[in-house]
Amino acid sequence: MPDHPCTSGLAAIVTGAADGIGWATAQHLASDGYRVGLLDLRAEAATARAAELGPQHLGIACDVTQAASVEAAVAEVAAKLGRIAVLVNNAGIGDQTGATVDQNVDAFDRVLSVHLRGAFLMSQAVARRMLQAAPIDGLGRGAIVNLGSIASTGGLPTRNAYSAGKAGILGMTRAMASEWARDGIRVNAVAPGYVRTALLIELEEKGAIDAAGIAHRTPMGRMAQPAEIADAIAFLASPRASYITGATLPVDGGWSAFG
Ligand code: NDP
Repeated sequence: MPDHPCTSGLAAIVTGAADGIGWATAQHLASDGYRVGLLDLRAEAATARAAELGPQHLGIACDVTQAASVEAAVAEVAAKLGRIAVLVNNAGIGDQTGATVDQNVDAFDRVLSVHLRGAFLMSQAVARRMLQAAPIDGLGRGAIVNLGSIASTGGLPTRNAYSAGKAGILGMTRAMASEWARDGIRVNAVAPGYVRTALLIELEEKGAIDAAGIAHRTPMGRMAQPAEIADAIAFLASPRASYITGATLPVDGGWSAFG
């Protein structure tokens, strides 16, 4: 593992880390020198992923919508991995699809809960600890990166809870960034275009999205690889982004530029 004096002995948390963008992000942060707490609904998958990264990383079962589960997971990371300098609010679901008039309100609530309540609870639990810690050169007291989407600014037909959640996460990003700017906690978001992960494959199988059409509509002519999103997340979490807070970085192959 490369020597990273800046991140040595520091912990990073990634939610929804067992798969897709979260897993790619956990790998990137580990290679940046962080001890990574990989949180996911599936304990076994999170533990297996942590073991792939090495013994200094930890997989923990956590449902980000449940306050007690969040507090227990964050406390465990702090106790076993050390000071938490980075939080990536990545956990997400996309299972509310179909005509709006036919949609189930419980599915609507569930999607909003994972994306908004989850990011809120995680940020609150982590920031309580960050605010107690002394600033570190370049890193300040810490960095939080949230996952937006092209749905944050452009409405996806039939996916209204997902679009609302992803728009809301940008509001939360800006509010927390403003509140904690002078405390040395930076809060930013990335807004990926389409990435072919389990979340997307599920939507493809339901006929809710058309992969060929998406590639055609994307100026770069293809979907993203999870590692390309992880690169942007790791940049925003790093000291290289030390004067960036409250921002949203599109990582969408030109989708939002095309309008
Ligand atoms: P994946 O479905 O591949 O991974 C999401 C992970 O989050 C899964 O491991 C899932 O666990 C976990 N998760 C779901 N609910 C919870 C919860 N309540 N608590 C803890 N973990 C949970 O998704 P992606 O990698 O595609 O997406 C990651 C993020 O990026 C999401 O926020 C998504 O909205 C966003 N995004 C994705 C895009 C894409 O095209 N893929 C585009 C733009 C944004 P389990 O599998 O057990 O449900």
